[in-house]
Amino acid sequence: MSGRLDIVIVGGGTAGWMCAAACAAKLDPRRYRVRLLESEEIGTVGVGEATLPQMKDFNDFLGLDEREFMAATQASFKLGIEFVNWGRQGDRYIHPFGTFGRPVGEADFFSYWARANIAGTAAPLFDYCFPIVMAKADRFMLPNGNPDDVRNAFSYAYHLDAFLYARFLRRWAEARGIERVEGRIVDVERDGEDGRIAAVTMASGARVAGDLFIDCSGFRSLLLGQTLDVGLEDWSHWLPCDSAVAVPSARSDAFTPYTRATRRSAGWQWRIPLQHRTGNGYVYASRHISDDAAAAALLANLDGEALADPRVLRFKAGKRHQGWSHNCIAMGLAGGFLEPLESTSIYLVQVAIMHMLTLLPAEPAIDPALPAEFNRVLDIEYDRIRDFLILHYVANAADAPLWEQVTSMKLPDTLRDRIDRFRHRGHVPAYRDGLFGPTSWQAVFVGQGIVPQAADRLADILPDAVLAERLDALSATIAYGVQSARDHAAFVSDYCPAPA
Ligand code: FAD
Repeated sequence: MSGRLDIVIVGGGTAGWMCAAACAAKLDPRRYRVRLLESEEIGTVGVGEATLPQMKDFNDFLGLDEREFMAATQASFKLGIEFVNWGRQGDRYIHPFGTFGRPVGEADFFSYWARANIAGTAAPLFDYCFPIVMAKADRFMLPNGNPDDVRNAFSYAYHLDAFLYARFLRRWAEARGIERVEGRIVDVERDGEDGRIAAVTMASGARVAGDLFIDCSGFRSLLLGQTLDVGLEDWSHWLPCDSAVAVPSARSDAFTPYTRATRRSAGWQWRIPLQHRTGNGYVYASRHISDDAAAAALLANLDGEALADPRVLRFKAGKRHQGWSHNCIAMGLAGGFLEPLESTSIYLVQVAIMHMLTLLPAEPAIDPALPAEFNRVLDIEYDRIRDFLILHYVANAADAPLWEQVTSMKLPDTLRDRIDRFRHRGHVPAYRDGLFGPTSWQAVFVGQGIVPQAADRLADILPDAVLAERLDALSATIAYGVQSARDHAAFVSDYCPAPA
């Protein structure tokens, strides 16, 4: 050892460059040397365009300028996801990045809504949510920082070109001392004593040794999966989609500040508006539709001219049994994959990076408590996202073979319990760690037709007339607040400087 801990990042997709940028921002170069190896010949997965609000936290953590980042990645703002045809054909709802309502009494807002809904006096839940009403009007404003103002009751994420994001971070990280090594890795060498990874060999013959290896090699999982033989916990019996066909299309007039996910016979279609194009894809179960039929369905449902040939990708839902084994930590697709229905992959990269930085060993010998803690936290994150995704699948009409399959499957106990509690009194216990919060669950439950049979007793206290008055006042405040938001397209074009 050179006196510095030698970190080798394998792979330069979104995961690799996010990790490299975080290392450049936060690690002392006198104590850590960081190199990233990638192969232009192999390339990156090249899709992945919708994110969660936590991405802003990550960019702030690095110290990126938001306008510069948005211009470089052709980004737009995202206030949530619109689900079309989920539940029953013709239904639509938005899962927002924000809260429902405002305090109207002692109980939480949702309990009051549930009470009024049972009495038949409430408007749809989604009408009481500022970011949803703003999104449906194709408008956007930044939160105004005033905790008492309904116009502050949301956060936002981005739609971005993940390939451009990786390129942007590459420039940023290289300028801060990260060394990049181009070439294909052809061999991985393990230490004879404890089986840890000792070095990788490049096609050029160069040998790159390291103390800690970060596997960001994508679906190949070159180090963790292939070399250390850490298997995948297969969740495809719950999430049977195993393929996607993706195609970019020309930007259309509908520059929506939200992602759209439309349920289809064998899966669902995404629509993600970026500044320079719209991203589209059909995620499907190959048991229920052929690649050609999926591509045809996708092309028939674009709102702009296709800009390339459709590209098919294969995957399996699941996560590696351990994300950190020996001296290797996997991030991104190398560590697992859950379909992009709730835009969680880049978030999972971010979580892995933050925990890696927290638990980073100071010397080559790794205390087993470090991987144990990393794996515990990542397992929680994956399990909770998995349950939330499965909820989207079960609460639907059984109107095609895929939907017959998923609406009658046996659920994880953790999800069964959440559904039962919600049906009973509308309770959604908040998690201490991990995604998603109560608003997200309430949105999907109610949006897909699962409503509470009774409301929390605390919500009984307010007289009917007062509750009705307060709900009406809230709708009016939201509608008024949205008027001060600007057209999303105009906001973005003013906000982002023209690329240099
Ligand atoms: P990759 O992009 O595959 O990068 C792998 C890297 O490893 C490349 O640089 C490659 O060159 C290198 N490499 C591999 N083998 C070798 C070798 N032998 N030698 C040298 N280098 C090597 N995420 C979201 O957050 N939101 C979304 O909306 C979203 N949509 C998605 C839709 C689909 C259909 C899919 C499949 C994924 C989606 N994702 C989404 C996930 C997102 O694309 C990825 O999580 C993200 O891009 C990270 O990818 P990665 O860096 O792990 O892998």
